[in-house]
Amino acid sequence: LTSVRYPNLKRGGYSALTDKDLSVFEKLIPGRVLTGSSELDGYNTDWLKTCRGSSQVVLRPKTTEEVSAILKYCNERKLAVVPQGGNTGLVGGSVPVFDEIVVSTQLMNQIISLDEISGTLVCEAGCILGNLSDHVAESNLIMPLDLGAKGSCHIGGNLATNAGGLRLLRYGSLHGSVLGLEAVLASGEVVDCLSTLRKDNTGYDVKQLFIGSEGTLGLITKASILCPQKPNAVNVAFLGCDSFERVLDIFKESKMKLGEILSAFEFLDADAIAVARDNLKLSIPIDDSFPFYVLIESSGSDGTHDEEKMNGFLEDMMNRGYVIDGTVASEPAKIQYIWSVRERIAEGLMHDGYCYKYDVSIPLSHYYGLVEAVRERTQGNTTRVIGYGHVGDSNLHLNATSPEYSQTTMDLLEPFLYDWVAKHRGSISAEHGLGFKKRDFIYHSKSESAVRMMNQMKLVLDPNGILNPYKLLPTVVR
Ligand code: FAD
Repeated sequence: LTSVRYPNLKRGGYSALTDKDLSVFEKLIPGRVLTGSSELDGYNTDWLKTCRGSSQVVLRPKTTEEVSAILKYCNERKLAVVPQGGNTGLVGGSVPVFDEIVVSTQLMNQIISLDEISGTLVCEAGCILGNLSDHVAESNLIMPLDLGAKGSCHIGGNLATNAGGLRLLRYGSLHGSVLGLEAVLASGEVVDCLSTLRKDNTGYDVKQLFIGSEGTLGLITKASILCPQKPNAVNVAFLGCDSFERVLDIFKESKMKLGEILSAFEFLDADAIAVARDNLKLSIPIDDSFPFYVLIESSGSDGTHDEEKMNGFLEDMMNRGYVIDGTVASEPAKIQYIWSVRERIAEGLMHDGYCYKYDVSIPLSHYYGLVEAVRERTQGNTTRVIGYGHVGDSNLHLNATSPEYSQTTMDLLEPFLYDWVAKHRGSISAEHGLGFKKRDFIYHSKSESAVRMMNQMKLVLDPNGILNPYKLLPTVVR
């Protein structure tokens, strides 16, 4: 069988769902087996509306034991499964390609414990990131990660994609802030690594395998996460400058002058600002005619000290001509508004029609060159090409749009863009993962030996290949 949507791809040798399977599932999780195409539509379609599968069933377990029983059965029957959290993934990893069974963590949304002294949160995988943020805020803590999709993405999905986001600059990646997790293997075996310790060098750190594995090695059911103290004082500056070199100058200076209170450094180019202004009708906090914008956040423990530091830094930047215009906010409503201009760009791009989405890491010396190269190459074939993102982490979100999908535009973009990134020693996926869309470009960023090792790990943990097939690993392992 090949797919109508993906004619070059063959369905794996998995069993087809039968009525008997449905009745077994109904016994395992009574009342939580969804069928019927209208109900399943949302589960079959990704956030970008660029990938669509044709699953006939969604299973919504509530407990680890139920996940274990489901996977054990699917493994014995060779039924393929796609784990799904909030379905906000941007690489087609969270939806079926053919008729894989969707196992959703929607109903696994209990907070298990929060230790206010150590800041350790233990929760189920289906907790929505924004709800966790609200919960820990009551104890003066924050989640170590924050991203535009926080209203829908699940913490399990965040771990499975090793989500980066807006706070990585300050608090590092989930490989550091996840203290433990519990996952269920394809066989149904529960792997209990739900430690709450910061230090634990007893053997291999098995939990790391699941962080960033995109649902291909196991289904994450619980996590324990180290939450930082909520900062007493937050300041956000939104600045305009006249070249990308200036963005880098400001970044270098901000590390020096803001030091320990620097918590985010994001940038947007003029075309990204146009998306916020024209597509989302957001008013831009400063003049909207600069070629580049920078969003800097500071967070610390002493408001007066932090404000003084931020103001001194900005004065210096303006005196030196690095910053042409800017605004600073310390009130929560204004801070939230400024952040929304940055965070809603992904949503705003959807108004253009089709979005070709790239999320790459590039050494800062070449960072913006990619946007310029892609703009030049696709001129006349795109509505716009924009660059924005976590410049503080060398992570660029490059997006091109057109009214509808065009194979000509796609052929101009790929593999050109990936070749460019590889040539400049970047990564073709900084934080979104490979999913379905990017798996065959893995060799642009990983060696053959590394991919072979990944494949071996997959064979050990999921010998029948039932977990999220057609994702992450390339079609052909060299
Ligand atoms: P899903 O989309 O449901 O799944 C993503 C992948 O994880 C799939 O492969 C799925 O099979 C697997 N998976 C999900 N749950 C589990 C589980 N419990 N066990 C095993 N595998 C599982 N990403 C960033 O890194 N940084 C950003 O700043 C960022 N900003 C975003 C902004 C917007 C507006 C949107 C729409 C997305 C953004 N993303 C970002 C991408 C996305 O939100 C993240 O990848 C997020 O972590 C996915 O979580 P989810 O629950 O929606 O997972």
